Amino acid sequence: MNRTYEERHIPVLLNEVLDLLVWKPDGVYVDCTVGEGGHTRAIAERIGAYGGRVIGIDVDSEVLEIAERNLESYPNVQLFKFSYTELPVLLNLLQVNKVDGILLDLGVSTYQLKAEGRGFSFNQDEPLDMRMDLESELTAYQVVNTYPEEKLADIIYRYGEEHFARRIARSIVQSRPIHTTKELVEAIRRALPYKEIRSRKRHFATKTFQAIRIEVNRELDNISRFLQFAPDCLNPGGRIAVISFHSLEDRLVKTAFKTDKRLRPLVDFIQPSNLEISENPRARSAKLRVAERV
Ligand code: SAM
Repeated sequence: MNRTYEERHIPVLLNEVLDLLVWKPDGVYVDCTVGEGGHTRAIAERIGAYGGRVIGIDVDSEVLEIAERNLESYPNVQLFKFSYTELPVLLNLLQVNKVDGILLDLGVSTYQLKAEGRGFSFNQDEPLDMRMDLESELTAYQVVNTYPEEKLADIIYRYGEEHFARRIARSIVQSRPIHTTKELVEAIRRALPYKEIRSRKRHFATKTFQAIRIEVNRELDNISRFLQFAPDCLNPGGRIAVISFHSLEDRLVKTAFKTDKRLRPLVDFIQPSNLEISENPRARSAKLRVAERV
């Protein structure tokens, strides 16, 4: 990996995750979205002296290289390039029967947003990519340039909660072929009334970029699949903690935790304090839910 990247990802709701997830000091924990390793490191530190260990997985091989460097001095951490949708396969390969805690920290890592060339950010001019798993086939280029207008509009409306979705989809289709993030930003700009662009608190392309990223990485399908099998990967008393950044993600988690007979919610949702948000604005839309295997 030789991409330029200087910032560090700050783990969200770290103390809350540690207090609620790490209940068994000599347990086995899986960080399903290891990213740069912030949560993994803190869990490994808390349980290291008691014989506990962490299995960390991520689909992004570049992010995993950073995690490997950040975690090289932790002998109780093992890292794998894997999708959390295949967790039972990995546990089987490792001959781990059940685990005591599973963490899912959804959304994008700072590396993915800030490193050159990944195509996640509307602030840089790059080829349209947005894949977290660089081996997967669907790219943002394909979504933007080949999806029918109607389908594009539905995605932007549903995943981006963007009220101007139809106008944006039309503008994208009229601007094809769109090769770069900057060209996409311009197509979105052309669709929006000037007053709307001026009045938005966040960048006017945020919602459309989020929607395309969710589609490219099948993020909602992945969470649904995970929620079906995850309780069976846990020992009795084992816990699942999910940090979500999107209302559709949170709704899936909330429903599963409330209706799945294998689980019992441990707390109502937890949000970051004002202090955390002021130190790490990326945390502002985070919601943590934790459930226990009954
Ligand atoms: N908790 C991490 C930390 O403190 O550094 C940050 C995690 S970041 C918000 C989310 C990570 O999930 C990204 O690195 C992304 O590549 C990864 N990811 C997304 N979908 C995944 C999947 N299906 N399986 C495994 N990892 C995935």
